[in-house]
Amino acid sequence: MQPISSKSKTALANSAAITAPAPQYAEVVFPLRVAQTFTYRLPLALRADAQIGARIVAPFGRKLLIGYVVALHDALDPGVELDDSDIKEAEELLDTEPMLTPEVLEVTRWISDYYAAPWGEVLKAALPAGLNATIEQILSITAEGRDEIAKLSTKQVSTAKGRALALIAEDGETTLRNVAREIGQARAAKVARELERAGWITFTNRARSATARAKRRKAVRLLPPEKHADKTARALTAAQGKIVETLIADGGEMFFAELLEAASVSASTVQTLEKRRIVEVFIREVRRDPLAGAMLPQTTDGLSLTDAQTIALNEIETALDAGAYAAFLLHGVTGSGKTEIYIRAMRAALLKGRSAMMLVPEIALTPVFSRRLRAHFGDAVAIFHSSLTVGERFDEWNRLKNGEARVVIGTRSAVFAPASDLGIVIIDEEHEASYRQQDSPYYNARDTAVVRASKAGAVVVLGSATPSLESFHNARAGKYRYLQLPNRIANRAMARAEIVDMREAFKTSGRHQVFSDQLLTAIEETHGRGEQSIILLNRRGYSSFVLCRSCGERVQCANCDVTLTFHRGENNLVCHYCNFRGRAPSECPSCNGQFIYFIGEGTEQIEEILQKRFPSIRIARLDRDTTSRRHSYEEVILRFGAGELDMLVGTQMIAKGHDFHNVTLVGVVSVDTGLALPDFRAAERAFQLITQVAGRAGRGELAGRVLIQTFHPEHYALRHARAQDYEGFFEEEIRHRKNMNYPPFVALASLLVHGEDLTRVQTTAAEIRDALDAANSERHCRILGPAPAPLARLRGEHRVQLLIKSRSRPRLRAVLDMALAYAAATRRCDLNSVNVEIDPVNLM
Ligand code: ADP
Ligand code: ZN
Repeated sequence: MQPISSKSKTALANSAAITAPAPQYAEVVFPLRVAQTFTYRLPLALRADAQIGARIVAPFGRKLLIGYVVALHDALDPGVELDDSDIKEAEELLDTEPMLTPEVLEVTRWISDYYAAPWGEVLKAALPAGLNATIEQILSITAEGRDEIAKLSTKQVSTAKGRALALIAEDGETTLRNVAREIGQARAAKVARELERAGWITFTNRARSATARAKRRKAVRLLPPEKHADKTARALTAAQGKIVETLIADGGEMFFAELLEAASVSASTVQTLEKRRIVEVFIREVRRDPLAGAMLPQTTDGLSLTDAQTIALNEIETALDAGAYAAFLLHGVTGSGKTEIYIRAMRAALLKGRSAMMLVPEIALTPVFSRRLRAHFGDAVAIFHSSLTVGERFDEWNRLKNGEARVVIGTRSAVFAPASDLGIVIIDEEHEASYRQQDSPYYNARDTAVVRASKAGAVVVLGSATPSLESFHNARAGKYRYLQLPNRIANRAMARAEIVDMREAFKTSGRHQVFSDQLLTAIEETHGRGEQSIILLNRRGYSSFVLCRSCGERVQCANCDVTLTFHRGENNLVCHYCNFRGRAPSECPSCNGQFIYFIGEGTEQIEEILQKRFPSIRIARLDRDTTSRRHSYEEVILRFGAGELDMLVGTQMIAKGHDFHNVTLVGVVSVDTGLALPDFRAAERAFQLITQVAGRAGRGELAGRVLIQTFHPEHYALRHARAQDYEGFFEEEIRHRKNMNYPPFVALASLLVHGEDLTRVQTTAAEIRDALDAANSERHCRILGPAPAPLARLRGEHRVQLLIKSRSRPRLRAVLDMALAYAAATRRCDLNSVNVEIDPVNLM
């Protein structure tokens, strides 16, 4: 039988405030796609240790699951009709100290409510991967089982059953996994059940402890003379003397391995000294530091701020002094000194004894910023992002949790960092779409960070050169206080942007050209002067599709509704959505035609063309293909910064955040694919991308130049980007949004139904549409669809989309919740195949 679910989350969570010494019941959520919390009885042994925020093991259906304790009660809530005998007992507590702080619990709860996301999934996402334990089945031998083994004939011993039993008997117990290793996956479960039925073994479940632990290494230290074993001060051998000397030179303590190496002695010599109690061998915990040995930039404490910076910082500091929530939008053109303000505002918060959080949109930006923060704040900085090893992540999380670190910098999930007493939250490049999680649980880390700041009474600063329409709108509406840095530092000119009309280039040359003459000349001149350039094309690979000239067929992915991209380096066709790979064809797969054309250049090809044409320019390419190796991105960026490379070719990952003083030319090979995307944010994204990449030029003493190639020179996003006119773009875009009923004027939700069977997907979508219509009888919402999603097939699944719009967010939620509850209750459709997104960022 299923555990009983509570009727109302709120009623139970409120009673958590009563903290009686020994609570009898725990309210638990599991990382599953269910909205409820579940009540369990705590056995006596667990009552004293149970704490809100700890992980707990409890029976769920026929399985044991790991969940999170979100409330404790002394008695059942009288408002909830639960019969004590229906309630199951919890099995085990995994933590004696809560893993989830009250603030993180509250924030995850907000996400779960606001984004209609399962709370347990959010909680799981909030903990570092190394802490997500798993349950294992343990098989233990019984007395009868032992007797049985003694009775087995040699022939019986070698059967699967005999071997399993012998293995279990060896240590008295073992895991089902080990048994599977011995006799094969297919037979293990069946054999184990037979053994259990015979009474020879018993089953229990146990949580496998966290995979990440503190790292330990053997170390050696000198002992004071009074501890030495022989007080006669017998002379040391040469090798022993070397050890003592080496240790003294290194402060009296070294890691074992390093000591052997440095003193070139053997382990046995150290052991002899250990016996004489001249040294001691011990185990030292070592921190896995993601920035160990990194070169740090110089601090900028000596700089005196510009007037605009001073005004902005003063406003932020005044809000910090007030000690209450305040939100700012810091709109500063690229190179206007926003980062300097972030750092000083964080310092101000630290000086008040509070902690600081800085979110950056991409891993790409963490190396640069984390070094800058480390240079200012030293070991007080903890770094959170997905390319850390599990061990590093665990250590950084712990350092923050125990208060050793008080500054956290990281990507999306750093918003859940266990920082206590947050004083300031910085969200850099707040307009970036990557703040949005693209899997369940869907949440936007930017908006979550604002909510977290408001709950913590902290100041939040959203920074950008190209604020999202929503945030600028919020600033206009007075929800955020607006701070502006209108000029670059030292009044350096913004780079001059020029649009290159590729229709003209085609007319003059009469053929398709990747590079216009203007761009080629500019590259030649720039590098002739010994300056650097950045060439952007937001499309990786060599050719974006393969076309047959005979039958017009494009080579498509077998699983997705997209063309395959040719990657020359590996000589494969690759799907950029599902990673499907296949050999590049030499003839058309559908008509066997010989005229196969590779069309649409990608970064790989651009690099090749440029290298051929300019052999003396040192070019590096940065895109997801070249940066899959850990640190490779960082290496290239550092070398480019040091002038060891002349040109960077890459996708949008080179567009943002960096401060290279010798870059005077930025070329955008094409912006047209981005403009053509069927998404209402396409123009906004194109505007942002061009403005950001243009901002990489002319950041030093030298003026910069930006060339943008396009077949649509009249597009308003390009017009305003060229003029570097944010407000002009905003006014035009916001009018469109208003006329077309898009955010920020309406609340938007999307329901994406997916599955392998198209008919089933369509039926489910139609059922949901009916349920939505029924819930929307007062017509406060507009419901669109079901219609095929722009990406109608992905990873072998069909995708059908419904959109809900309403001027009233509460009404939109009411309709959505009612419809989903109805669909779930009637069990007419499988809600696991429906992705519900509130405020979706990607409508593809
Ligand atoms: P943003 O984050 O707005 O792009 P940064 O903070 O990176 O700008 O500043 C751009 C450059 O100007 C950096 O090299 C930074 O060290 C420098 N800088 C910032 N503030 C000042 C200042 N007040 N005086 C001189 N240089 C400054
Ligand atoms: Zn695919």
